[in-house]
Order: sequence, then structure tokens, then C-alpha cells
Amino acid sequence: MIPGPRDVVADDLDAPFWDACLRSEFLVHRCGRCSRDYWPASSCTEHGGDAMRWVPASGRGEVHTWTVFRRTYDPELGLPVPYIVAVIQLDEGPFFHTNLVDCAPEDVAVGLPVEAVFTELRPGVVIPRFRPRHLPAGERTPS
Ligand SMILES: [Zn+2]
Repeated sequence: MIPGPRDVVADDLDAPFWDACLRSEFLVHRCGRCSRDYWPASSCTEHGGDAMRWVPASGRGEVHTWTVFRRTYDPELGLPVPYIVAVIQLDEGPFFHTNLVDCAPEDVAVGLPVEAVFTELRPGVVIPRFRPRHLPAGERTPS
């Protein structure tokens, strides 16, 4: 679900992802044999875990689905109600559960192009969220 502060506990496997968030970089876990990307950290379904490595990703995607929360479940997340919990399909393929920010609930739509932004919850704890991405003139989202 949403990466709340108590969930942001880096272990050996996902520490690189959370370390990159401190630098406002978004990573995915890539198989070195077939280049398939995963999130969260995983083993490749075809090649196992030996060739997996963290690589920089675009930090872009589109809204796959969402819901509006009208109650605060974790005040440390610092989101005024109502707020949006969304599943983003990253441009690299994996799905990412997050909050959509800088967007009114009535403006969310399936396929809305979004980009990662990084929120410091407290020193040393930075989480990625997503906001609407404004496309350059002439660029369209895939439908
Ligand atoms: Zn693979």
C-alpha cells in the first residue's frame, strides 16, 4: 500500500531504492538478462534473482487506477483530506502504489500522465509521490 514512514525500512534488497529517493532519483529493479523492470524489488520471473540490479528510471507513468481518501490514516504522511491514493503504471512497466499530489480529485483520470516528486517526511526519510505531468505541445498520451 502507501509507503508510510514505518514501512520505509530499508533492507539490503531495497536500500538502493530508498537511498536514491534521498537524491530525488527514481529507480526500478531490472533483470540484467532480459531487461525486464520490476517494482518492488523482485526476482525476474524467467531468470531468477542473480542478474537483478537497481537502475535509474524515468520517474514517469500514467494513472492506472485511484481512490480518494477522506480520512487521514497516518498523520505523518502530511496530506490534508481529501487525498488521492493511486496506482501508477510506470513507463518502464511496473505498477507503483503512491499518492497523487498537486491534483484535485475531480481532475484525476485513467491515463493521466504523471511524474515523480519527492517528499521529505523527516530527515533521512524521503518518499516518492506523483503529480500530473504537463505534456509538451503536440505530445499525446497513449490511449
Ligand atoms: Zn529476466
